[in-house]
Amino acid sequence: MAYQPDSLKYFALALDPIHVGTGGMRLGRVDMSIVREPGTNLPKIPGTSLAGACRTYAAMQESGKFPRCAGQGQPDTARGYQGHCGQPDCPICVTFGFAKGTGGGFQGLAQFSDARLVFFPVHSLAGPVWVTCPGVLRDLGIEIQESKPLDGQVRVAGGITASGRLNLGWLMLEVVGNNPAPDAGKLAGVPQDILDRAVLVSDKMFGHIVNDNLEVRTSVSIDPATGAAAEGALYTYEAIPRASVLYFEVVVSHPKYYRIAREVERDGKKQTEYVIPLRDEQHPEGDPDKVKDTIKNGLKLFESLGIGGMNTRGMGRLRVLNLNGRGAK
Ligand SMILES: [Zn+2]
Repeated sequence: MAYQPDSLKYFALALDPIHVGTGGMRLGRVDMSIVREPGTNLPKIPGTSLAGACRTYAAMQESGKFPRCAGQGQPDTARGYQGHCGQPDCPICVTFGFAKGTGGGFQGLAQFSDARLVFFPVHSLAGPVWVTCPGVLRDLGIEIQESKPLDGQVRVAGGITASGRLNLGWLMLEVVGNNPAPDAGKLAGVPQDILDRAVLVSDKMFGHIVNDNLEVRTSVSIDPATGAAAEGALYTYEAIPRASVLYFEVVVSHPKYYRIAREVERDGKKQTEYVIPLRDEQHPEGDPDKVKDTIKNGLKLFESLGIGGMNTRGMGRLRVLNLNGRGAK
C-alpha cells in the first residue's frame, strides 16, 4: 500500500476573541485586520501561527530546549544566540523543523494546516446560534442530504425554537426546516450545546454573516514615556469572536523516511553521519509518537497562553477540544 502520513484532526473553541493580524495597517473599516482566505474572504488562523505557538509551548515543557529550540531559530551572534539545536534526537527541532544544523535546514515532520471556521456564533432573537454552511461541512466529510438552503434561507437544529423567520445579527432569514443532526462522529469534541444550536445557511451567506459579525474593538496606544494614552493613538482591530469553533489538521510524517546530519567523533576525528530522527532502542526506525506527543504538549497550552496578537489584553486563548486520543478520525 502507498505510504500515507498520519493526519491529526483538531477542533478548537475560542475562549477569547482571537486576533491574528496581517501585519500591516489597512485603511478602511478597521486599522488592524485579520488574515483571510483569498478565495472565500473568510477569516482564518494561518498554520504558521499555530505551528509557531505550538513550538514555543512544547519547548517550554521539554527540559533544556527553551528558549533555544523555540522561536525562529536564526542564529544571532550579537545576542549570543546559537539558533535551533538541530539535533536528530531533539523532539522540538525534529517536529517543527530547524533553520540550520550540521547538514543544513530541516522542514520538520509536522505540517500544520490553517485553522478555519466551522461554527460561528451570532446573536438572534432565539438566543445565541452557531452558523455553518454546506461547504464548510463538506470539507469535514459531512454531506448535507436535505436540500441546501438558498441565500435567503436557514435550517435550524433541534435546540432552537424558531419558525417563520430568524434573524442572524441584522439579517432576517426564512426558516425552511430542520438542520439534519450533524454527524457527531466527525465533529469529535465539539460541545453538544453548540451542535444543538447550529444553523445552516448557504455558502455565500456564511461569508457575509461571518464578516458582518466579527468583533471590532477600539484600543489606545500607551505612550511609554508618560504612561498615558498617546495623542491620536486610538485604533480599531478586528478579531474572531469568543465561542467560535475552528478546525485544523496536522500531518505527521514517519521519521524513517528522513535523515538528519550530526557530528560525531571517531578515532579522534570529527565526522558527519546521517541518522533517522527520534530513534532509540525500541524504535530503530524512529518514533512518530514522540512527534504526536510534542504537538499535543504544545496545543495543551493554547488554552492558557493563547495565540496570535494582543494576548496580553485578554485575547487569543483557544481550547483544543479533542486532545485526548490523537485527534479526531
Ligand atoms: Zn532542538
